[in-house]
Amino acid sequence: MGFKGSFTWIKSLRQGGRKAISFTLKNTNLLQTATFDAAIVDGANIVPTRYFRGQRLRAGESMTFDIENDTWDWAQGDFFCVLDNKGRQDPSLTWELKIPEPAPGECKECHGSHKCASCGGNGKILNRYNHTYEPCTVCRGTGICQTCFIPVRQNSPHSPIYSTPAETFNARSSSKRTAIMNRISELEHEIYILEQKNLNIERNGGNTGMWSSYYTNNQLIHSYRRQVINLQATLTSL
Ligand SMILES: [Zn+2]
Ligand SMILES: [Zn+2]
Repeated sequence: MGFKGSFTWIKSLRQGGRKAISFTLKNTNLLQTATFDAAIVDGANIVPTRYFRGQRLRAGESMTFDIENDTWDWAQGDFFCVLDNKGRQDPSLTWELKIPEPAPGECKECHGSHKCASCGGNGKILNRYNHTYEPCTVCRGTGICQTCFIPVRQNSPHSPIYSTPAETFNARSSSKRTAIMNRISELEHEIYILEQKNLNIERNGGNTGMWSSYYTNNQLIHSYRRQVINLQATLTSL
C-alpha cells in the first residue's frame, strides 16, 4: 500500500468561519485500489479514538477528514494512522498534526497577545448605526488572532477548540467582559427608549412639564452615552 497524508488549513463554515485543519489521505498507488482500516487519535487523550473500517481508495484517489464532513475536529498533537491487519498502528503510515508555534511576540498581527487586533479580543464590533453588536468578521466572533491561531483541545470533549497554546483567556477576564458588554447593551436600550420619548415630545409638542422632561431626558442620554464610551474603552484595554 502506498499512501500520502497531508494537513491543510480550511475555513470551517460549520464553525462560523474560523480556521480549522483538514487531513487528506491519498492512495499513491497508480494501479491498485487500497482497502484499509484507519483511526484518528487525540494526542491529549480526551476525545475517544475514531475508527474508520473498510475504507476504499481507488488508484490515485484521496479522501478528507475534517469538521466539515463531520469526521474530526483537528487539534495540535492529534494523529491519523492506517492500521495493519492486526488492527495496530503502523508507524510508517502515521501523520501527526504539528503546527510550529510562534514565539511570544512573533505574530505581526497581535504581537503575542493572541487577541484579534480588529475587535480587541472580545469577538464583537459595535455597529454605530443601529447600536447593536455584531460578530467580528476578522476572527468570526472568536476574539482570537487568526494569524497565529493553532487549534488546541481543552480539557473536555465538549469544549470548543478555540485557544492558542501559549495563552488561554482566563475566566475572570471573560466574565468581566461579559458583564461590561451586558451593561453597555442595557445603556444602549435606555438611550433608545429616551430618544423615542423625546421624538414623541418633538412631534406632539405639549405643555411646559413635557418640555422639562425632554430636557432631563437629553441630559440622561448624554450621560449614558459617556458611560458607554468609557465602558468600551475598558473593554478594549482588557
Ligand atoms: Zn497573532
Ligand atoms: Zn475579532
